[in-house]
Amino acid sequence: MDRFDLVKESFEKKAVAAEAPEGKPSDYFGELVFDRDKMRKYLDQDSLNALLDCIDNGQALDRKTADGVAKGMKEWALEHGVTHVTHWFQPLTDTTAEKHDSLIEYDGKGGVIEHFDGKSLAQQEPDASSFPNGGIRATFEARGYTAWDPTSPVFIQGDTLCIPTVFISYTGEALDYKTPLKRSIKAVSDAALPIVRFFDDKATKVLTYLGWEQEYFLVDESLYSARPDLMITGRTLMGHNSSKNQQLDDHYFGAIPTRVAEFMRDLEIAGHKLGVPIKTRHNEVAPNQFELAPIYGECNLANDQNLMVMNLMTTIARKHGFVVLLHEKPFEGVNGSGKHNNWSLGTDTGKQLLAPGKDAKGNLMFVTFFVNVLAAVQRHNALLKATIASATNAHRLGANEAPPAIISAFLGKTMTDVLRKLLELPSDTPIEIAGKKGKSVGLVEIPEIFVDNTDRNRTSPFAFTGNRFEFRAVGSSANCAGAVTTLNSAVAEQLLMFKEAVDAELAKDKETNVAIMDALKPIIASIIDVVCFDGNGYSEEWKEEAVRRGLDIETSVPEMIKEFAKPAAVDMFTKTGVYTLSELEARNEVKWEIYCKKVQIESRVMVRMATNHICPAALEYKTKILKELALNKEVFGNIEGCESEVKVINKLNGYINDIMQKAQAMKEARKAANAITDEYQKAVAYHEIAEALFALREPIDKLEEIVDNKLWPLPKYRELLFIS
Ligand code: ADP
Ligand code: MG
Repeated sequence: MDRFDLVKESFEKKAVAAEAPEGKPSDYFGELVFDRDKMRKYLDQDSLNALLDCIDNGQALDRKTADGVAKGMKEWALEHGVTHVTHWFQPLTDTTAEKHDSLIEYDGKGGVIEHFDGKSLAQQEPDASSFPNGGIRATFEARGYTAWDPTSPVFIQGDTLCIPTVFISYTGEALDYKTPLKRSIKAVSDAALPIVRFFDDKATKVLTYLGWEQEYFLVDESLYSARPDLMITGRTLMGHNSSKNQQLDDHYFGAIPTRVAEFMRDLEIAGHKLGVPIKTRHNEVAPNQFELAPIYGECNLANDQNLMVMNLMTTIARKHGFVVLLHEKPFEGVNGSGKHNNWSLGTDTGKQLLAPGKDAKGNLMFVTFFVNVLAAVQRHNALLKATIASATNAHRLGANEAPPAIISAFLGKTMTDVLRKLLELPSDTPIEIAGKKGKSVGLVEIPEIFVDNTDRNRTSPFAFTGNRFEFRAVGSSANCAGAVTTLNSAVAEQLLMFKEAVDAELAKDKETNVAIMDALKPIIASIIDVVCFDGNGYSEEWKEEAVRRGLDIETSVPEMIKEFAKPAAVDMFTKTGVYTLSELEARNEVKWEIYCKKVQIESRVMVRMATNHICPAALEYKTKILKELALNKEVFGNIEGCESEVKVINKLNGYINDIMQKAQAMKEARKAANAITDEYQKAVAYHEIAEALFALREPIDKLEEIVDNKLWPLPKYRELLFIS
């Protein structure tokens, strides 16, 4: 089929109706999750009590209890037609991994039975050497273990019982995203609790909440299959802008095309069955771009759910003739995709720590956590950027339509005013919600409407939005755990320091609220004109201003990654018990390695497409014109009046030569880079190749503009970015 057939086929595709579920969402919500209701139904009393104690209080599960739990789970799973079981884990690859085992065992009488016990529930041993591990493998051989994380419920996908697990080496080193995330959740809780206790003596735990918003693109699968770059790298390495893309802003929140709506419905139903509280769906800014967001939840589970949804989207899209693109920048010239991480803290007594309180005490607690988060973000701004840096997200950051490559925080006018006022007034000034007690001079007030109506700044990578911070720089394909782990750890470190500062003030016989405010004031003074920035994050002036403020403006991913190994990061991570030094070093190796491989693959695909697709098409066009000229000469004896054709041929020659020369240079650069053994140095070399990809793209996109449309071998942007 040629391109025109594919385009016609995609245009004529009819919507595939979504599955019709039985009942309302509340009837089937969580149907495929072994949640507390199922636990009560399928577990004996001892197993149930032990499991709940394990989930709620972190108690270890003994082998006997695990057997009891497995028994109940098996019964439930068999009722759903389950035949296989897998430990579901999160290696350092941004996707999840699973190794399926059938439930069958010989029964000793010549037949088989379905067997599942505590041992297979609690632990398995996949080959760690097959996953990125940054050298930990070399030291600790290939042994890696997956171990059940009972705080994230077991679920069913298709015919398989999936057990969420951590993935660790023989000696307990984390080989995944989940382990450090869980450690960081505990670190925040441990550090925050003594401070919460100043305000609430009933709290025993601080919880981290995550509400992710997943952006993605859909493309028709027929057109996708004709684009080797999309298929292999997840993005278009070439392609001229469509005459119309997002200029008219008519896609954002526009009507959802029926084909897409049916896909979304299927996705929502499947998500709801898996207990993911999917809440919103809408068109995004770019053509073919969409977003999905659930109600926020406890961070570890919310993150698992994000990964589940990413898997679901990928499979469900195929039923509707689509391919989901989770790449951060599949198309040049239109917006890329991010994954906003809405993040907040709360107590097990139901208090939100980043939302204004009901009274002066509640407000002081809010301001305390608010300010400390900002201080953590300021201290580790370069590191936070490093957590979201990747070969793919690099195309989005700083590209004038997504968060800039500078981490600052947006407070909004209200909170900026509150902080400035606090600096001026005596430390025992109560912070009131305006309107509650009438206005009086000298009070620091948070207007009542602010509570659910914060102002917005789309250009900020870390914005306060009323009861949470929104870390917007995270990439759409990333595992959120990478960013959230660092954020949690940085906040934990800051809270530990803050507690010491408050204790020092208390030692001077001050009232608690005064001691807290006296400890807060120097922090407020140090952040208010540094990390806090409400202006336009996309502007050139901001870059200069950020340098003056001492914020990091590095844009090269290999350089950003170095932050993890710098003393400030190592101190912070080891003090909070989130990463050991060897884990940090190993992770950096992995990050550089993945960076190199991604750019290497892109560069190979680019060179081959340039050589096998683009230049032949251009040459064919050239031959066509030359034939015309020859005919002209034959008929008229000259080529007078054919200046335009000659001009086109000259242009074609120019672009073709440019492409061939750049492609050759790129091949050589790759060869040189591949010879480098140090992963960082190699990544630096590949960073240059990543830049060269843009340069190689230029003449290709120019060719697309002049070559006969009929001869162009690849679906064009205007065709890819169009769903009827
Ligand atoms: P927007 O697109 O304007 O940023 P959305 O409504 O699409 O907002 O998404 C907001 C996200 O923030 C949702 O996932 C929501 O559940 C989440 N969220 C709301 N409150 C909190 C909170 N306190 N902590 C964490 N996430 C939250
Ligand atoms: Mg958002």
